[in-house]
Amino acid sequence: MDAARSSPDQGCFFVTGTVCEVIVDLHVPDVDRVFHYTVPPELEGRVRLGHRVLVPFGHRPRVEGYIIGFGPAGVPRDRLKSILALLDEEPLLTPAQIEVARWMRDRYVCPLVQALQCFLPPGSRLRSGRTARALRQKVARLADPPAAGAAREALARRAPKQAAIIQVLLENEAPLPSAELLRRAQAPRSALHAVVQKGIVIEEEQTARRDPFHGRPAPHARRPHALTEDQQRALSRIREALRGGEPRRVLLQGVTGSGKTEVYLQAMAEALAQGRGAILLVPEIALTPQTVAYFRAHFRERVAVLHSRLSLGERYDQWWRIFEGELPVVIGARSAVFAPVKKLGLIILDEEHETSYKQEESPRYHARDVAWARAQREGAVLIMGSATPAVEVRWAAEAGEALWLSLPRRVHRRPLPRVETVDLRGELLAGNRSMFSRTLSEKLEAALDRGEQAVLFMNRRGMASFLLCRECGYVPRCTQCEVSLTLHDPGILRCHYCDAAHRLPEACPQCGGPYLRPFGGGTQRIEQEVKRLFPKARPVRMDVDTTARKGAHERIVEAFAAGRFNVLVGTQMVAKGLHFPGVTLVGVVSADTALNLPDFRAAERTFQLLSQVAGRAGRGERAGEVVIQTYAPDHYAIRAAAAHDYEGFYRAELAYRRRTGYPPFSTLVRLVWSGEGEEEVVRAAQAAGAAAAGDLRSLGVEALGPSPAPLSRLQGRYRWHLILKGEGEPAIEAARRIKEAHEATGSSGVRLTVDVDPVGML
Ligand code: ADP
Ligand code: ZN
Repeated sequence: MDAARSSPDQGCFFVTGTVCEVIVDLHVPDVDRVFHYTVPPELEGRVRLGHRVLVPFGHRPRVEGYIIGFGPAGVPRDRLKSILALLDEEPLLTPAQIEVARWMRDRYVCPLVQALQCFLPPGSRLRSGRTARALRQKVARLADPPAAGAAREALARRAPKQAAIIQVLLENEAPLPSAELLRRAQAPRSALHAVVQKGIVIEEEQTARRDPFHGRPAPHARRPHALTEDQQRALSRIREALRGGEPRRVLLQGVTGSGKTEVYLQAMAEALAQGRGAILLVPEIALTPQTVAYFRAHFRERVAVLHSRLSLGERYDQWWRIFEGELPVVIGARSAVFAPVKKLGLIILDEEHETSYKQEESPRYHARDVAWARAQREGAVLIMGSATPAVEVRWAAEAGEALWLSLPRRVHRRPLPRVETVDLRGELLAGNRSMFSRTLSEKLEAALDRGEQAVLFMNRRGMASFLLCRECGYVPRCTQCEVSLTLHDPGILRCHYCDAAHRLPEACPQCGGPYLRPFGGGTQRIEQEVKRLFPKARPVRMDVDTTARKGAHERIVEAFAAGRFNVLVGTQMVAKGLHFPGVTLVGVVSADTALNLPDFRAAERTFQLLSQVAGRAGRGERAGEVVIQTYAPDHYAIRAAAAHDYEGFYRAELAYRRRTGYPPFSTLVRLVWSGEGEEEVVRAAQAAGAAAAGDLRSLGVEALGPSPAPLSRLQGRYRWHLILKGEGEPAIEAARRIKEAHEATGSSGVRLTVDVDPVGML
């Protein structure tokens, strides 16, 4: 610390000549080095750890960088260049955040610069021109309202437009944006100019904040629920943890409808009462408007939302308001785990088992793990909530690494819905070729007759999962990806990986025969069949195709909640967090889509998805029923879901993981080589596999592969993968060495990505 001076309120700042460690944003992947710069006299006493700076780099006059430490450089100080400027008055990164970024670099084998940028305002990564900027606008106010009142009498006849401007301002206490003022006064800009010249009105620039709620006021607060005994017990343990001031992990395992949300809300209230901030992470915030409304009703104008459907400007403004401490409650999707909340006290992951918490591009982080890394360094409590905890999380709770709290019953002791499994093999034998079993048809008919609502779920969109020529067996496939095309209405074949669309051919392109037939169904087909078979049905569909436009999802949710539709057909979107008291029947049209994926988590996914969909039934006064259609009725994931038996599922799944050595009994790292030339990709993967063999043995890491990835071609790129299985640190170390070797040889045209704790294996 000899080169830095401390000041009690500002932490340390750097004096002239201090050598700073700067991470420079070169926009070049995989360059991850610290460069050294000195503090020039003009920045004496202002440069601090975590500052964004401009520095000269190579032939580039100015690039952005981040100060992550100081000295020594290993070269004489006078050979170093100086920092040119500070980009912000305050450092944007705290020491704890820099620590978390270093942890991310080590854990995810990603460049530190990428990890640091997660903590910076959105858009700061973009090149100039597209960068989000504070929106400046002109606002006008009266210099002296009583004097202005008098002046208006005088002006009313000679200059009615000027008088109108004054009148509008007299009616408004707050300053008005000039454009708005002119519109209301129906006056030209020259009139405003005139009253400014006369000193009656003051016009000034102000930073406008773009508002994701578009000025919609927070909904009215319901009175907080009197907590159930279970909720009370869980909350008091969480309060203890918050008051302890120590980092703590909590697993809140509560069945669907047990009132976890209420516990989150009151835990947040406790954190706020302590003067600390809180982050609530939800799997897909655009899909949970009801949750956001619920928290806004309680925390009013102190709630920030962060998600990908906001415009860049909206996200940027929310970020700054959080940074400035105006908004201590943040609700957001995955990346909100990086929100610059002041004095962070609590992070909550709702539906912690959801795969959307994993980022599928570099840095390939899992929000649950980053949340814990943050909580540990900022003294916060992390609550992981779920009805169906991830096997790893439940295992950690059993091992005492997390406080394990449970809400075993639904609120008001409402029963969990009765679940019936239908064996689709039997339907086919009985000559029923429709998508709906006899059981599901009867129950749907009856529910509609009683004026109740139903949800029909299928985890695939479109009309048919693939086409098959019944003459020659030809299946149309994407030319860029190694997958069959999905039929969409009207007559479009679409690739679900690259979104390429093709016309439906009239005859089989291979044999010219007329028998290209659709197989399997999707949500679009369900919707069509429901309309055809059930005259009372008023179906509405919710999937990626119907919710692409902004606000479309909310409109569907609201319309269905208001009863304008009585059947909601959808993909997993309908499974998440929605609360429709009118729904008494949930039909899972096919439970098998997730079960057959080549992934060791396929059973877990299926169990979680089915449990969650089933949880949409019977959330109101009337009891709920669920029908699960499947070709594998005896699979333990399906049996356990039908019986609401998490424990049974968990035990069976854990035994399988133990037998196969999959997580939590190991850490997996997946390496994927991809490129346009098949030969180069194969060669790179095989060479790396062979070269690493010795390393892997000495590290005690097992290698599965290299082999072609299940999606062996994606968007025109060939793909091979290698899966490393071992204890955490050695497996990651092995991956790091392979990546470094790859970069050293500079295998042209072949990209290597490292995915630690992969959640998808395709
Ligand atoms: P979960 O998130 O566990 O599935 P929710 O938090 O959505 O459950 O709660 C289910 C329903 O019960 C919601 O409508 C909620 O408002 C209501 N609820 C929660 N706690 C209570 C309570 N203590 N008393 C009455 N109703 C409650
Ligand atoms: Zn494709």
